Parts: sequence; structure tokens; C-alpha cells
Amino acid sequence: MSAQPAIDGQFQEARVNLLGLPRAELEAFCGALGSKPFRARQLMNWLYKRGVGDFAAMTDLARDFRAQLGERAEVKLPEIVTAQRSSDGTCKWLLRADHSQAFEMVYIPETDRGTLCISSQVGCALDCSFCSTGQQGFNRNLTAAEIVGQVWLANRELGFAPAGERIVTNVVLMGMGEPLANFRNVIPATQILLDDLGFDLSRRRVTLSTSGLVPQMYRLAEHSNVALAVSLHAPDDELRNQLVPINRLHPIAELLEACWHYIDEQNGRSVTFEYVMLDGVNDSPTQARALARLLKGHPAKVNLIPFNPFPGTRYRRSSDEAIATFRDLLLRGGVMATVRRTRGDDIDAACGQLVGRVIDRTVVRLGSKRVPVQVEM
Ligand code: SAH
Ligand code: SF4
Repeated sequence: MSAQPAIDGQFQEARVNLLGLPRAELEAFCGALGSKPFRARQLMNWLYKRGVGDFAAMTDLARDFRAQLGERAEVKLPEIVTAQRSSDGTCKWLLRADHSQAFEMVYIPETDRGTLCISSQVGCALDCSFCSTGQQGFNRNLTAAEIVGQVWLANRELGFAPAGERIVTNVVLMGMGEPLANFRNVIPATQILLDDLGFDLSRRRVTLSTSGLVPQMYRLAEHSNVALAVSLHAPDDELRNQLVPINRLHPIAELLEACWHYIDEQNGRSVTFEYVMLDGVNDSPTQARALARLLKGHPAKVNLIPFNPFPGTRYRRSSDEAIATFRDLLLRGGVMATVRRTRGDDIDAACGQLVGRVIDRTVVRLGSKRVPVQVEM
């Protein structure tokens, strides 16, 4: 018998957090420990089907292998700082990134599904003017294990039972951060969400929302097939430049090209365009007609999001009438449109209200035009 191989360079850190490893990497890790790749299947079964993270409890694994795992691996979850439950059942957790930084995740129960909104970064560098995460600045990317760990943690906190019904049926990358600015970690995390040995979610039930990092959208089309949501928020470049500063680099025409390419490549249904309704800014009938002209005839639907205010913002939410008129004009213009119901209002758990705790803001905002956005590929 050959001697135990040395751990591969890639797994040299003291303990590898298994939650961040998609199937192929977990197989490589088992191989590096001198075990057969099929051990990875058994491990995934314990981790994701049974919600067990304690190696000692994984009774169908050989004792030696369990001991090795105890030395070389861990299943480490983000630590909960606070947990809040809204009167409508929405739950929000503040999770620790390190001694001073924190990020948030939100669970929204509905009759036919349970949606978990997870974060991909601590803060965000893209500086959209109506977003309270953006106003916090950026601290760091979350690791793949921290992204996957949110789903694991939510299941545990919400009472996941192996034989019971799914609690988290849908996952949306719509919490803190710009997922495509953390490509390197978001892709493996989505692989674990979709893998039938992982969380086994269908690709229509995992949605990635981006403010429009166009080059990364083309890369996404090569590496993933999750549902795509795009934060549009304006029908013309002049206004979008003000609301979503990344538009100065990737204007609307380029962004839409990337969207249609994604749908073609993925054989997908349609792109959901998010449009935050800001009183007197982007909610006029003229703007609704312009938006309809832009999207008509394409695989697109629009989700109108009533603006969620936060302290210090200069914006106000559009009136219910303005939102209804805007939706009707889109429908009449041949574009599918819905209005997002605001949830978790009493605990500030709604879109754009997630602030976490971003104390050390290492990256200057894009809005100031001084520093390019850092993108981890
Ligand atoms: N960075 C990604 C995903 C996180 S933001 C993106 O921008 O798409 C998720 C959604 O919440 C986006 O559509 C964003 O524009 C929206 N949003 C941000 N701030 C908001 C606010 N104050 N009220 C309502 N929606 C907001
Ligand atoms: Fe970042 Fe999205 Fe907020 Fe813009 S809307 S600042 S991209 S989190």
C-alpha cells in the first residue's frame, strides 16, 4: 500500500471548510486525503440531505477517515449576531464576518414557497444612490463557504428535518453586495445550491441579481444557468447614470445585449428587470412608455419594487396610484409587469434596507469615480 499522499497545495490551509467545496473539489479533497472520491458523495449526503456537520456523527464513514476529517476539515457556519422576526413571519439575521464586520440574510415565508435572500459581499462598492447597502461602502467579498453557510444556517434555524418538507425552496442573491463582483466565490456557491447531491434546487429557483456588470454576465452564461434578475431602474442612460453609477461603464444598450445573450445561451425563460419606484424620479407615464418600448418583444418581465426608505435618503416611495399606473402602461405596452410586495417592513428586512455592519470601508465608492470596482474572477 502506498503511503498517505501529502495534502495538495490547494488544500494546505489548516482546516478546509467543506461548505465551500462543490462536488468536484470535495472529491479532490477526499483524494488528497488518500480516500476514494465516492467518499465525497457520502459527505455531501450528510451535509446537505441530513443537515449534519459533525464528522463524529457520520457513522457510515470509516473511523480513520473521520479522524482525518477532524484534523483537516471543518464545517464552519457564519456566527449569528442577532435574529429578528417580523409580524408577517419574515426573519432577518445579522451574521458575523469578523470581529467588527457583519452582513445580513432574510427569510420570507409565503404560502407556496420559502425564499431566502442571501448576501455575497460585506457592503457594496457600486454606490447606487437609492440603496442603503451601497451607502455603507464595501469591506470584503464573502467566501463560498460563507455564502453556502447562509443557506445551511437558515435551514438549521428554521427547523430543517431530513424527511420533512423543504423550508428554503428558493434562494435569491439579492442581499448585501453585487454577486458578479465576487464571481470567484459566487459560482462555486451556486453549483452547490443546484447540485442534486447539494441543496438540489432547480435552476429556476436560484436567482442572481446584478446591477449590470456586463463582462461578468457573459462569463456567467458560460459557467452557470441560474435565473437572472437585472437592476434596471431607469429607461434612459442619463437617469440610470445617476441611479446606478456602473451604467457609466456599461450603458443600457450593452446591458440589454448581455441579457438577451444570457437567455439564448441558457435556454432560459426571461430576465426579470427590477425597477425601484422613486417618487418624481423614474415613475412618470412617459418613463413607463419608454421602458415598454425598450423591452417589448424581448424575453423580459418587470418587477416594480416600491422604494424602501432608510435614514438619510433623499428619495421617497412612489404613490400606490403611480405604481399601478406604471404597471398598467407596461402591460399595455406589451411587457409583463408585477409589483413586489414589501415584506418585513417592521424589521427593516426589505430590499435595499440591508445594512449589516460595514465599519472598515476599504474601497472608495465607484460614485466618486476615483477607484475602479474590484472584481474577483
Ligand atoms: N447588487 C445586486 C443585488 C442586491 S440589491 C443588484 O443591485 O441587483 C437587490 C435589489 O434591491 C436590487 O434590485 C436593488 O436595486 C434593490 N434595492 C436596493 N435598494 C433599494 C431600496 N432602498 N428600495 C427598494 N429596492 C432597493
Ligand atoms: Fe450594490 Fe446592488 Fe445596492 Fe447597487 S443596488 S449598491 S449594486 S447592492
